[in-house]
Amino acid sequence: MVEELPGVTRDRLELEAEWNGHQFLVVDTGGWIGGGDALDAKVAEQARRAIESADLALVVVDVTVGITTEDEDVAKLVRRSGTPVMLVVNKVDNLAREAEAWEFVSLGLGDPQMVSALHGRGSGDLLDVVVERLGRLTGDLVSGASQEQFRQAEEGASGAISRAGADAVPRVAIIGRPNVGKSTLFNRLAGQERSVVHDVPGTTRDAIDTVLDTEVGQIRFVDTAGMRRRSRSAEGPEYFAMVRALQALDAADVVLLVIDATEGVTHQDQRLAQRIAASGSPIVVVINKWELLATDSRAGVLADLEDRLAFLGESPVLKVSARTGLGAHKIPAALHKAIEAYHRRIPTGELNRALASIQAAHPAPGSRIRYAVQGASDPPTFTLFATHRLPATYLRYVERRLREDFDMGPTPLKLRVRLGG
Ligand code: GDP
Repeated sequence: MVEELPGVTRDRLELEAEWNGHQFLVVDTGGWIGGGDALDAKVAEQARRAIESADLALVVVDVTVGITTEDEDVAKLVRRSGTPVMLVVNKVDNLAREAEAWEFVSLGLGDPQMVSALHGRGSGDLLDVVVERLGRLTGDLVSGASQEQFRQAEEGASGAISRAGADAVPRVAIIGRPNVGKSTLFNRLAGQERSVVHDVPGTTRDAIDTVLDTEVGQIRFVDTAGMRRRSRSAEGPEYFAMVRALQALDAADVVLLVIDATEGVTHQDQRLAQRIAASGSPIVVVINKWELLATDSRAGVLADLEDRLAFLGESPVLKVSARTGLGAHKIPAALHKAIEAYHRRIPTGELNRALASIQAAHPAPGSRIRYAVQGASDPPTFTLFATHRLPATYLRYVERRLREDFDMGPTPLKLRVRLGG
């Protein structure tokens, strides 16, 4: 059972496959061409990367041609990568060819697995061996990930879902109602010029995350399998889509909330946004399909959005067209900024200097903050030691100023007050 995924990069075709109940991902490298021009070099580079990130490499050779220098080069490349390998000899249509197939043993890739792709001969046996070897290698059957990533995934599945620490790859969930353009947006981000795409198993069962290398560092998009597949039916009933979205939300450090500009902020969008805000994650809002708006209706749509999502406070709002690419290049930087602020630790000295000027500009009525410390990050949490109670309006003022002074963007902040002295 094979289902075609939209190629996430131009030169690689990926297929989700299932054999005897085992799922794995097949990556077609588009051929390996040594040397030659710039395009060859690019294809070769993609192939090399695919080999390195794979759990098992299948080197396919043609029995009717015999061993070519390319075969030898590929064999060398794969052996050097350290990736487990299987030698597949194709076009073995009869007994005579079967004898000839043994010549390829000299490539040093083990015994030949003989198939005739044309007649389907041996392909069932081949799949049996592939599934068996993958199972032995990983103890599970999701491909495209290193042993280390599997170990991490296992830890994530057995314990609480682990959130990224300050130096781990930040996790982003793309959340929004059906048809707002989440898949289109994700594919746009994955297709951007500089992005390099890796698949990693997600924290929940059968989820696949995607790590993108962006100009601001790596970003991990949570549970992207459905987005890559892009087929409506695969998402299943809406209830399950919702459960998945909530799981993705819990696994994320920051949420990309996608709104459809042509529909504006609906009641359902508001409820989603509230649920996300309650999770404590910073939010970056994307208002998608922007190119469909008539120029004179844009200001109204933005004002309406600010109104209905007022409780999101400082969340940035990016105007984007996932279809044309307009504005999409700003997304990685906005996500990064939000995540950075979320993990931010402000040194006590700096914090107290800022508080002195905050109080100088606007003293608290009948109270004074003597000093403060940041007790925790994710999100940044501050304890203010004050002489007397601080009114809520004053706390909101302090929060706003801290947010501005330390450029904390959409990150939720927590303030606690301790009285004394
Ligand atoms: P999802 O359900 O949120 O993943 O939405 P899809 O990515 O499947 O998009 C739903 C529909 O909106 C598709 O027909 C897309 O082609 C279309 N779409 C997505 N982004 C844009 C956009 O920026 N502009 C326009 N005009 N259409 C878009």
